[in-house]
Amino acid sequence: MLPYANVRYCKTHFIEFFENRIERFIVKYKMVEPGDRVLIAVSGGKDSVVLLHVMWKLADRLGIKLHGVTIDLGIRNYSSIYVAVSKKNFEKLGVPYTIIDLKDAFGFTIDDVAKRWRRVCAKCGIVKRYVLNKFAVEEGYDAVATGHNLDDMMAVALSSLMRGDVEGLGKIKPVLPAREGLVKKIKPLAFTREKDVKIYACLNKLDVVSARCPYSRGSTLDDFKHAINMLEEKHPSIKYSFARTLYREQGGLARMKEEPLGKCKICGMPSKSLVCGFCRLRQALQASPRDRVFL
Ligand code: SF4
Ligand code: ZN
Repeated sequence: MLPYANVRYCKTHFIEFFENRIERFIVKYKMVEPGDRVLIAVSGGKDSVVLLHVMWKLADRLGIKLHGVTIDLGIRNYSSIYVAVSKKNFEKLGVPYTIIDLKDAFGFTIDDVAKRWRRVCAKCGIVKRYVLNKFAVEEGYDAVATGHNLDDMMAVALSSLMRGDVEGLGKIKPVLPAREGLVKKIKPLAFTREKDVKIYACLNKLDVVSARCPYSRGSTLDDFKHAINMLEEKHPSIKYSFARTLYREQGGLARMKEEPLGKCKICGMPSKSLVCGFCRLRQALQASPRDRVFL
């Protein structure tokens, strides 16, 4: 039963409905073009694994080529499980893939970040965005697809609204076009509820991990998701109304705030400041404890 659409589906028709909606969304927002090479970021969690399976099913019809990527974040008792499940899914579908080991490639792990800062997720987000973009730019991909679902998008929107972060609000879109040194980012699940993703993964018996990251405790985004879900119980289509308004309005917001990007003086990747957030983080991790006071 999908209360927001007031319909009931059997297993076969739910799967068909789910995949068709994602395909229509991809086409509506012109996420890909025939001939595109699309990099799919897979963590091993339900959202990215579902994204991988649906994109794999749609790839021929859309005329695109897929390549998977998983970042090994080096979180003890957690990352190795997720990486193994991601590999299993790539191999099952025959999708070529790359595993980027953060420690090997950049000399640190998210566990190192956690020893130094309390708000680990914010730093982890910087790291993941940077690593994915760098890899996609260097390997010449046309787009990076991530598994953010409707609930993720709405929780981030609510959080940006609360903080008065207009620029952040303008970036909550299903597609972020390519610009100087930044590859196009697409979110094909941005119009699909988290609950529907769970149902799809369960009906298809997909291999996903659901262990919680040790650093996710106390995340404010979880509280925003909870609040939106409470509202949804009374108003079943509220997430969709919110998303339609946001995806429609934000074009203006984004244009209003978009400033030209410079280049990081250390790594040469796009940055609004002299040194990008990723390089600042790396520098801070490498600094001696005495110097850290001043960073
Ligand atoms: Fe990174 Fe936070 Fe996600 Fe853990 S919960 S993987 S620290 S963003
Ligand atoms: Zn940099």
